[in-house]
Amino acid sequence: MAENLPPDTDPPAASEAHWFGFRPVDPEGKAPLVRQVFDNVAPSYDLMNDLMSAGVHRLWKSTLVDLVAPRPGMVLLDVAGGTGDVALRFLERAPSAFVHVVDINEQMIRVGRDRAIDRGVLENVDWAVGDAERLPVANRSVDAYTIAFGLRNVTRIDAAIAEAHRVLRPGGRFFVLEFSRVVVPLLAGIYERYSFSVLPRLGQLVAGDRQSYQYLVESIRRFPDQEALAGRIRAAGFGQVRYRNLTGGIAAIHSGWRL
Ligand code: SAM
Repeated sequence: MAENLPPDTDPPAASEAHWFGFRPVDPEGKAPLVRQVFDNVAPSYDLMNDLMSAGVHRLWKSTLVDLVAPRPGMVLLDVAGGTGDVALRFLERAPSAFVHVVDINEQMIRVGRDRAIDRGVLENVDWAVGDAERLPVANRSVDAYTIAFGLRNVTRIDAAIAEAHRVLRPGGRFFVLEFSRVVVPLLAGIYERYSFSVLPRLGQLVAGDRQSYQYLVESIRRFPDQEALAGRIRAAGFGQVRYRNLTGGIAAIHSGWRL
């Protein structure tokens, strides 16, 4: 059990590339490990999200889409779009808008595309395998950029934020929905115990995969807190950067304007 406990100190800012959860790795070796996690979890990903969060992730994503403010003709780029949760919610609100979904993992994209087909969503969306750090997307070509529970998994967070800035048109908006730091002391203790003892067991029970869910909780702990992430978004050149805590800071939505 001891190896599952969080370390006493947080890593220095911008060192995420050297960590796969609590395990030190060479930066070049991180992406294949992350890819393996999502290869493993893809088939049970949506079910596990509902079980782990008791459905609350749906409310968080719904809040994200509210803030994106879908409108006819809008072009959204949803990076690390996985099984298409954000993309499909966005198109429900604005059926004549367009979403490009990019994800590094083909298995996740495949599940997302099948879900979209099952719902009759064939047009107004495309799916591409690609890396958040090197997007297959033209400069200044999208109205909004979202990344939900994805930024934590990229090797170089600052490179991914810089790519978001490159592809957004001036006046476009950047959004990150990600796990963050709990700001309610009583909740913090409960959440910490739940994360480190319940989630990996649930992963084992439902998905037959404890390790991937151990990585999930460790990567949450390694991710920059609200203020640190806001600073890094500002450093990439975004204006009016702000964040909103969700469920006491278990998650947060950061946003910024491409000036
Ligand atoms: N956005 C979806 C959601 O909220 O349900 C999926 C989130 S899932 C926790 C994280 C996703 O990030 C996975 O689909 C994974 O393949 C993707 N990912 C990890 N590293 C990535 C990278 N460097 N570039 C693009 N996608 C990446």
